[in-house]
Amino acid sequence: MRSSIGGPRVMLRRLREVMAEPVSAQERLDRIVVLVAANMVAEVCSVYVMRGDGSLELYATEGLKPEAVHHTVMRVGEGLVGVIAREAQPLNLPDARNHPSFTYFPETGEEIYQSFLGVPVLRGGQTLGVLVVQNMAPRTYSDEEVEALQTIAIVLAEMIAAGEIQTLASPGSELALQRPHHLYGRAFADGIGLGHAVVHEPRVEVSQLIAENVDEELRRLDAALESLKSSVDSLMQHPAFGEGQGEHVDILESYRMFARDRGWAKRIREAVGTGLTAEAAVERVQNDSRAQLLRQTDPYIRERLHDLDDLANRLLRELVGWSSHPSAAELPKDGILVARNMGPAELLDYDRERLRALVLEEGSATSHATIVARALGIPCIGQLDGVLDLVRSGDPVIVDGLSGEVHVRPPADIETAYVDQVRLRARRQKRYAELKDTPAVTRDGTAVCMQINAGLMVDMPHLAETGADGIGLFRTELQFMVAETFPRIGEQETFYRAVLDAADGRPVTFRSLDIGGDKILPYMRHAEERNPAMGWRAVRIALDRPALLKTQVRALLRATAGEDLKLMFPMIAEVAEFDAARALVNAELERLAHFDHPVPNTVHLGAMIEVPSLLWQLDEIAERADFLSVGSNDLFQFYYAVDRENTRLTDRFDPVSVPMLRALRTIVERAGAHDTPLTLCGELASHPLSAMALIGVGFRSISLAAAAMGPVKTMLLSVDAKHLQDWMGERLGRSGGNMRDDLLAYARDTGVEIDES
Ligand code: PEP
Ligand code: MG
Repeated sequence: MRSSIGGPRVMLRRLREVMAEPVSAQERLDRIVVLVAANMVAEVCSVYVMRGDGSLELYATEGLKPEAVHHTVMRVGEGLVGVIAREAQPLNLPDARNHPSFTYFPETGEEIYQSFLGVPVLRGGQTLGVLVVQNMAPRTYSDEEVEALQTIAIVLAEMIAAGEIQTLASPGSELALQRPHHLYGRAFADGIGLGHAVVHEPRVEVSQLIAENVDEELRRLDAALESLKSSVDSLMQHPAFGEGQGEHVDILESYRMFARDRGWAKRIREAVGTGLTAEAAVERVQNDSRAQLLRQTDPYIRERLHDLDDLANRLLRELVGWSSHPSAAELPKDGILVARNMGPAELLDYDRERLRALVLEEGSATSHATIVARALGIPCIGQLDGVLDLVRSGDPVIVDGLSGEVHVRPPADIETAYVDQVRLRARRQKRYAELKDTPAVTRDGTAVCMQINAGLMVDMPHLAETGADGIGLFRTELQFMVAETFPRIGEQETFYRAVLDAADGRPVTFRSLDIGGDKILPYMRHAEERNPAMGWRAVRIALDRPALLKTQVRALLRATAGEDLKLMFPMIAEVAEFDAARALVNAELERLAHFDHPVPNTVHLGAMIEVPSLLWQLDEIAERADFLSVGSNDLFQFYYAVDRENTRLTDRFDPVSVPMLRALRTIVERAGAHDTPLTLCGELASHPLSAMALIGVGFRSISLAAAAMGPVKTMLLSVDAKHLQDWMGERLGRSGGNMRDDLLAYARDTGVEIDES
């Protein structure tokens, strides 16, 4: 060993002292590298730490340029350090620059160092980092030196494993708050938002706990409760919901109920009576409610907790005199709202004009803030664990509401790509909007009926925006899913009436409640099932609990009095179920007529083809039903035995396949033989390529997601239906599974415009 200062034992003793010093993790690392460099007579000593994303970052150095610390990052396998991490073996090189893996990181200034010794920082067989010494002169480090460095690496491994070093870059740390982050959450509302973070901080810190004057506290509380009530009332007048219809109004109504809830106010007053300040009393009651609600396993009930949290925070704000409305000055013009969770009213406090997106740590597709975000047309991503620890107000953020990605402090190239995408989308949207009045007729003159799928009032404006022929699938269960309690018959009737009014004469095909499976009504008791998708759901529940279906049918019959009712039943597996459903509707019709109530002019009852057993009862069902509608999402799921919610299976089978398309073609043929109108309302109709396949097997009516109208109509206008059908006939006659590539080639060769982005 060369003349080191005191040898390895001295170095270890010094190291122990450094470990015991009451300094920050960064300082400790900085001292360790100085110590090692001095002890080993090396010009350089550096520590690289493995990050959560699997790359290696320079955490501390003696000898390399200090500005490289926390900036130089390499992948495992990249450069000498990356090779050591990958191989978990030391590298001892007298002439590092000629090693094939040598990679030069200019910001480090390491080009002047020839000899290199690096050892992995290992723990439990896992590489946590790399420790390196370098010298200018060419030399081979002795075995003793290698061992000494490995000993230091063990100490470092302990530091890293104990979490001391990671905290330097862990969420919430200064470093984490400077870096770019790329996060994945769940996409709840489509769209791209570019802007600057506004961290939603609703919490009021309560410092004064003990009341000096209980009467005075009660007076303050009453005044605050009063202004809370009026502020919630005025929210109801919010221009976004000015028309006063729909599920957002229901949500706010339930919210208003909370605000007026005497029990809640009473509990807070009682808490003040025990000697607490009004603020502390609000917190106490809120903590109790939290504890109670958190014990509930039902996600719906836990979501109510957020509404209650929101309300309690509002009350606290009233008490301390904070404005509930963030001023325009606080909000950038392109605000990306970031919150743990949020009540619907809190979201409405922000100026819509200045909001570009909503990002929630929690949230769900059916949480009220999400529904309101969708109503306001704001992209929304939820279930982004830890995002609040990584973002500060003012940080640039990009939200991709299609893929569920969020970029915090994105690098310039990512930002440019998204700016381009936003421009492209805007151009494309404009082009699609221009198509809204163009009839959906193929190149060879075949007219196709294009309707859209809907389920909430917010979906209704899409009819006019897209120029759709009607609503081909109205999922009535969504209204039930966002309600606090089972909607009463009068509420259902009002809702269906509002839907029909919003449709303004265009036909609406209602689907009877498709609950069960993953669509749980929180206020309805349900048993846990092993296979909920194949369990007690949809028409099965409706026939076993006829009161439910009767109420819905009655509400629909009343809402469509003097007009046409189109109603279809989901998950029909045998014709007897359809017969039973029709019998129930007829009985309700007779009942209404008996009491001289107005009835619809016509009632059309349809069956959804979602269960493969119906494929062998097509003649019978086509004869009995007034119309048929293929629910291709469920049909595909059961046909291929592939759970539609299971992400591991998402790409395993393709519905654009010979077996699936043959089945669909048979449905078209049998429906045609009986002159029974047929449509398809699953996802297959919402993608240009699969919609083209549907035209190819003979569908002339489809119902799709509103956002897909533009791309699918563009495909329709550019396809020759007759030619395609002949080609498909020939292609389906041959064997084979997936047909996607063949269809893509057909589209390319015949000039069909397919925009699957
Ligand atoms: C379907 O299954 O294709 C369908 C339209 O119904 P849902 O997606 O609501 O089950
Ligand atoms: Mg279905």
